[in-house]
Amino acid sequence: MNLDINFKKLQKELIFIPLGGSGEIGMNLNLYHYNGKWIIVDVGLGFAEPDLPGVDIVVPNINFIIKKIKKDILGIVLTHAHEDHIGAIQYLWSEIECPIYATKFTSLIVKAKCKEYGLTKRMKFIETTSNNSFQLQDFKITLVPITHSIPEMNGLVIETAKGKIFHTGDWKFDKEPVVGEATNEDTLSDIGKSNILALVGDSTNIFQKEHSGSEGELGRNLEKLLCRYPSNMIIVTTFASNIARLVSLVKAAKKANRKIILQGRSLWKMYAAAKESGYLQESIIFDEKHFKKFKRHEIVVVCTGCQGEALAMTNKIANKTHPQISLKENDIVIFSSKIIPGNEKKIYNLFNKLAEMNVNVLSEANEFVHVSGHPSAQEVKKMFKLIKPQVAIPVHGEAIHINEHCKVAKESGVKHTISIRNGDVVIIDPEETRKIGEVEAGHYIIDGNLILNSENIIINHRKTLRDNGAVFISLAIDEAKKHISQISITAPGVLEENLDQDILDSLKLNVSETFTTLSTLDKSKIRHSIELSVRKHIRKLINKSPLINTSIFFI
Ligand SMILES: [Zn+2]
Ligand SMILES: [Zn+2]
Repeated sequence: MNLDINFKKLQKELIFIPLGGSGEIGMNLNLYHYNGKWIIVDVGLGFAEPDLPGVDIVVPNINFIIKKIKKDILGIVLTHAHEDHIGAIQYLWSEIECPIYATKFTSLIVKAKCKEYGLTKRMKFIETTSNNSFQLQDFKITLVPITHSIPEMNGLVIETAKGKIFHTGDWKFDKEPVVGEATNEDTLSDIGKSNILALVGDSTNIFQKEHSGSEGELGRNLEKLLCRYPSNMIIVTTFASNIARLVSLVKAAKKANRKIILQGRSLWKMYAAAKESGYLQESIIFDEKHFKKFKRHEIVVVCTGCQGEALAMTNKIANKTHPQISLKENDIVIFSSKIIPGNEKKIYNLFNKLAEMNVNVLSEANEFVHVSGHPSAQEVKKMFKLIKPQVAIPVHGEAIHINEHCKVAKESGVKHTISIRNGDVVIIDPEETRKIGEVEAGHYIIDGNLILNSENIIINHRKTLRDNGAVFISLAIDEAKKHISQISITAPGVLEENLDQDILDSLKLNVSETFTTLSTLDKSKIRHSIELSVRKHIRKLINKSPLINTSIFFI
């Protein structure tokens, strides 16, 4: 595979490169090139795998952008305000520094995030509107409103002299979307008649055969559920970014004569942006200070934490650590969400905590409480029939979703499909769309306020600490007499001082014996020899490989 592509020679080619979201769910970042210039579509975050201890968030590795194409970037175009599409902007924008094209609602969410990082004064936002086009040099971009679970989700028709691309973003067909516009099939059919070269589309729910379901229909069921328990408090936990669900819950709460107590920082942020953009103007939403002012059966607590997140509100309430809100026997907790793969254990732990309190748990397992914002195979087929692309390029999915999406495209009559992963360089051409090589891709780690490369000594040390503990050796060396005057060894997470004194003594002996064999007073040489010897010795004694850290003082 070609890893050293000369992009100057490809000046006139229409090129697509995903740097995030292809081969994984989350962290979407896509690049399009034509006539020597590039546009970026979405800059999202992803959630870290459990093998990254202490890390929650990862963002796309943009070394390729920084090193090779930064000066030729025309702008970032955003499809919608979900974290997996905008959540990395506050971490990465300073490295890219280009204008951001987004609708009013999406801009509001991004600005609120970037403000916390002191970036907004330097940033240039250009407000776009659905159904309108704008020109970025040789790219003409048209925003096509499509239904999703958040307002102002727009697919993009990206037009160049070399051909047209339809980049779907996240979408579904829903005649009753609750917020935002229903996907207009006539518009899509017209786009299909305009000779679309490639469709770059959402693979998330490709294994779902049946229709993704309607938010409007779900809203009516939520209303029934809120009316079903007239004498109990109800908690509904959902994805903070699902504005459609919040609107459905407001309607349902009104019908059930209940007030909403909103809980969770991210929910409040989304609510503020939805209110400012005119998607939600309600007077039944209150904060936790109002909890005691209403009767329990008049309340619906809408809160974050549907994935069992340790620090989110649902867990706080279940752990009885929430200062105001508490559950009682026979109360109801509705998980208006799906279980995201990887979160099963955390969510079942939460279910069990609630069951131990004799609280009724309603979830996808026993009630109709959630619909997806992504298209099923049936909807994807319909999209291909409307858009009629020459090539299908599935993105927004793991390898298995992308390959299945290619199969579905073929079944829908699309002649060519191409299965890509992050970093693949694809030339989109009416003659032959093809992969020609790779650029650097992967992820950066967000560790507190630091951004780290994925291959990082800090994270490797943290993994060793987590799995094997640490041994701290402290030596005072009498420089004149060339002998050790004091040794102290502690081994947190490995040995207990009171119980394992014999092992600690044996380690001390190993250290002093190693030192006597050395004929140097060079600190780094002493440290290296001692750590090598202690590592072998401790492996022999207890079959563990802890992190070893040696401090040396000369006296
Ligand atoms: Zn989305
Ligand atoms: Zn998404």
